[in-house]
Parts: sequence; structure tokens; C-alpha cells
Amino acid sequence: MINPFSKLGISDDVVNAVKELGFENPTPIQEQSIPVLLEGSNDFVGLAQTGTGKTAAFGLPLLELIDFKVNKPQALILCPTRELCLQIANDIKNFSKNTPNAHVVAVYGGANIMQQLREIRNGVQIVVATPGRMLDIIGRKAIDFSNVKYVVLDEADEMLNMGFQEDINDILSTTPDDKKTWLFSATMPPEVRRIARNYMENPVELTMGTKNAGNVNIEHEYYIVRARDKYAALKRIVDFNPEIFAVVFCKTKMDTQDVAEHLIKDGYNADSLHGDLSQQQRDKVMQRFRDRNMQLLIATDVAARGIDVNNVTHVINYSLPDEIESYTHRSGRTGRAGKTGISICIINSKETGKIRQIERIIGKQFTKAELPTGFDVCEKQLFSLIHKVHNVEVNTDQIDQYIPRIMDEFAELSKEDVIKKFASLEFNRFLDYYSNAPDLNASADDRGDRGERGDRGERGGRNFDNSNYTRLFINVGSVDEFTRGDLLGFVCNNGKISGKAVGKIDLKGVFSFIEVENDTVDALFTNFKDVKFNGRDVRIEKSGDAPVGGRGGEGGERRRSFGGGGERRSGGGYGGGERRSGGGDRRSSGGSGRREGGNAGGGGFRDFSGRSRDDKGGSGRREGGNGGGERRRRS
Ligand code: AMP
Repeated sequence: MINPFSKLGISDDVVNAVKELGFENPTPIQEQSIPVLLEGSNDFVGLAQTGTGKTAAFGLPLLELIDFKVNKPQALILCPTRELCLQIANDIKNFSKNTPNAHVVAVYGGANIMQQLREIRNGVQIVVATPGRMLDIIGRKAIDFSNVKYVVLDEADEMLNMGFQEDINDILSTTPDDKKTWLFSATMPPEVRRIARNYMENPVELTMGTKNAGNVNIEHEYYIVRARDKYAALKRIVDFNPEIFAVVFCKTKMDTQDVAEHLIKDGYNADSLHGDLSQQQRDKVMQRFRDRNMQLLIATDVAARGIDVNNVTHVINYSLPDEIESYTHRSGRTGRAGKTGISICIINSKETGKIRQIERIIGKQFTKAELPTGFDVCEKQLFSLIHKVHNVEVNTDQIDQYIPRIMDEFAELSKEDVIKKFASLEFNRFLDYYSNAPDLNASADDRGDRGERGDRGERGGRNFDNSNYTRLFINVGSVDEFTRGDLLGFVCNNGKISGKAVGKIDLKGVFSFIEVENDTVDALFTNFKDVKFNGRDVRIEKSGDAPVGGRGGEGGERRRSFGGGGERRSGGGYGGGERRSGGGDRRSSGGSGRREGGNAGGGGFRDFSGRSRDDKGGSGRREGGNGGGERRRRS
């Protein structure tokens, strides 16, 4: 029987390599795009979700089209994050393992540039890169792109969201005009359309799945709770799903840290992933998650980009993303490689409108779900334990020696009594915790959250939905080496407003969001008219008015040649590990302490002892947290 990949036109060397990876049949996106891309004569736009087999969809045709006898860069793949960069490079190395003289290099920030330069000097045909580091290398005149025939822009929407528009322009301007450009994106906002228009000639367009559709394997649910009950709701969802293996998304680094710290304190096997962690810390967190030594990864959107971990059972939107499009990326962390997954939103009653917006974009309906009662959770946990007992492997050699003594201990008890006592051992702890547990469900017309700013609630919660504040966009951020404190000072000094008038500050890469009291907005706008930063006009606008993602200088026609240096961000990029400002966030990063042990591999409930649920008992053994000590220096 002919291998289905051979039928698509893939050569034996590559077919054998993907067979070894367990690819038996092409995924739908591979089936559709491989024959088109193999022609090598078209620009291409593929609207495709993550986790659908996209990498092989462009990687396999590239391997067929490149002349491996020539040791010069012929394909350049740009992607938003270091994680994705490594993943793509790795995948292509695997696909090309039987292809003689195939050389792939991964070029990304946060790693030794000398090593990358050496690999380039030794001769490569495929360069996989994040934009910041790529520009750095181009600026050093260390790479020659005159032989590039194919450029792949992977996760184009994410690259634009992260403010890489100009960098991409600059990089592409160093490649030949007659190259072919292949663009992949999970969503198709106008900015991506514009790129397609600017860089491509009559691209072949393929939509894999419904336009903008969420992955078909994902169910979408939302729970309505009062803001102060969010954390309790999160715990209840986790407790009701003893086998959960989830990514929990928060909007800000601070929330991420906050939620992770509370969960750890409450005995859950969780950790946080956000841009203030050093690359080393992030790698460690990711490794633990990948190895399933951690059940709950609490992450910001930026930090979680490119996470490719299979078998994630749930994505939990602890807060909804600002940009609806990000929801597609978040939920795409589950339901990968043909598996099913559940994407959950914990919202307050005022956010149901946003759910409807998301439904329109993903073309799928959400189910309004009810949080389980305390009793439901107890029952679920009890039977999860019973199933575990039923399935546990008995080490006869070791246990047999104790059996006579154990039997003696239970001599007075019937089998039923033993079972009852055994089950109660753990069940009681849950009953204790959940006896009198309140109903956390709020109705859609519940307005109980009004004016709760600063409410500390059960989890010390933060409520960001305050109509007294206006959310503003400002075109400076962490790439300008701002910390939240710096930005607060910058806005207050220049805008001549009091720090008390400032609410939440959401520091992003090339831009930020800042909440200020409504009655200070006019003064702020007036005072900011002529403010410059590093010779650049500072733009401040109401966030709804701002271009999504804050891409300054839209259109991006600029095709700057290199050598001049000028104001180019060196090794720019944000969050994805390209370069971060040295943190300086008031919170220490990574200080959550890594709980040792937990239920490594078991996937079951993290800590049945209940010791830290009520914080009565000892805290269990913890590895000392790394307290942010490894945070990278400012560059
Ligand atoms: P990607 O969208 O490229 O990140 O791929 C998502 C996951 O699906 C990765 O773990 C791939 O190894 C896997 N994958 C890609 N193509 C296939 C295939 N044809 N058969 C089985 N698994 C695949």
C-alpha cells in the first residue's frame, strides 16, 4: 500500500522519518496544503489553528523544495516565541533526519548568540527564528539571505500582537523579491490581511476548518460567579476534575503569580509562567509541566504562546483576554493532536456579552455550566479515590510481609467496615472542607460585583471591572525597559495626575494598558500632547480607540536597510524570551516555591491530606523557591 504522505508527493527519506514519528496519515491541513506548497510557485495564506499539524504542513514541502547540496539559507521561518522556534526547528530536524546534508538552525533570544552564529557560519539551509534575534544577526551582517526562496510567517497574528510588524518588514527587506511567502495564522485580523496584501502576490488561500473556528475537538463552557468568588470557583472546578492537567490563563503577571501562590499554598500542584521569569526558570516550569509533574500551569498569554504540550485536559480562562482573538490561542492549548479538551471561562455577570463576541468569532457556542456543589465535589473525589485503589498495582513482594499484622489489626472488623473506614480516611477531609460550602453560581443578571474595586474577597481577589476607571493604551512598554513602577511614575509625572488615580497597569511589550480614574483622562490627554520618550512621540489613547495590539506605524511600508542601526530594538521582542526588561515588577518572580513530589505522574488529586487547605498543618516539603534570584539583568 502506498504511504499517504508519498501520495501527496513527499519523498521516501522524509516519509520514513515521519513514519518513525508515528505520523500514519496526514492531518487535514497537511492534506490540503502539502500539494499546493510543493508546487513552490505560489504565495500562500493558511488560516489554521495551532496543534493541527501545521509545522509538517509547511516543513515537509520545504524539505522537498530546498537544494541541500547548496549550503546557504534557502528558507526562513519566522515565529513569535523562542518556544515555538525551538519546537519548529526540532520538528524539521526530525523530518529531515534521513535527508543528507540538511542543516537547520534555531535563532532565538535568551541564548548564546555565538553558538547560533557558529552554526550559521558552518552552513545552514533552513533558518527558524524569532524576529528580534534575527534582526540582531542581520545587523551584524552575519547571514546572507540572497538565496532565500521561501519565507514562512508562522503564527503571524501572534507576531503582530507582539509588536513585531516593523521587525518583520526589516527582515523581509533583506530577502530576494522573488521569494515565495507562506503565511500561517490562527486568526485573520485586518493587520494580517494587510501583511498578506503587502507581501504577497495572489496568494493561494486555504482555510483549514471553519474560518476563525475554534478547534473542533474543544468544548467551550462558562461559569458565572461574583468577582470575589473567582478563586473559590477555580478551586472547585479543579477539585471536581481530579485528573485535570490544565493551563490557567490570567491577564497580568501579577495575577498569574497571585493565583499560583494561592494554589500552592492551598496544596495544589501548580506553578506560574510569565515574562518576569528568567528563561531558565521558564524552561524549568515548562519541563515540569511537560513531564506532568505539575497539574496546573498558571500563565499569561504571552508566556504561554507556543506551548505545545499534548494531553492538556482543560484550558481555564481565569480572566477573559482583552483581545478576543487571543481566546483562540488560549483554547488551542487543549484539544491538540486529535485529543478532546475543554476550555472554561470563569466570568462575572457583566462579561456575558464578551462570551457572545467570542462565540461569533470562533463560530461555536458556549455551554453555560453550573459550578458543582461541595457535595458533588466530595462524591467525585471519593470515587476517584476508589477507582485509584481499585487500579493500584500491588507490590506483592514488599507488602506480603505486613499482611498478617494488617489482618490482625482488622480482625474485629467486617470487610464493609474496613472499606468504610478506609474511604472515610480521605472523604472526611473533603467533607470538612466542603461542609457549608456556599453556592458560587451567580445569575447572569447578578449585579453584585459593582463597585468592588479593591475587594479582597475569599482569595484576596482583585476586581478589575470598575466603571470609575478608563482603560488607556500607551505606546511604551517593557521593551522600553519600563517596569510597572516606572510606567506609573512616567504617566503621573508627565500627565500631572496623582498615583492614586491610577488603577491597573498592564505592561506589555511595545505598548501597555493603564487604567486611570475617569475624571483624570482629559487632563492626561492634554498633558501628554508633546511628551516624547527616547525621541519618539508618546501616544496615549482610550484603549478601545487604539489599534488592536498597539502596532505603532501601521501599514509598515518602511523598508529600512541595515547597517544604519538607528533606533532598531536590539534583540527586541517581548515575553517570548527574546529579551525582557529586568523585571523589577514589585512582585518577586518565581518566588512561589516549587512543591516537591506532589502526585508526579499520577495525575490524580494533588494532596489529599487537606493539610494546607485550611492552613492548619505543616506546609509539606517544598523546594526553596527561586525567589526571582535568577531574573535576567537588564540589557
Ligand atoms: P503542530 O500543529 O505542528 O504543532 O502539531 C501538533 C502535534 O501533532 C505535534 O505533536 C505533532 O507531532 C503532531 N502531528 C503533526 N502531524 C501529524 C500527523 N500527520 N500524524 C500524527 N501526529 C501529527
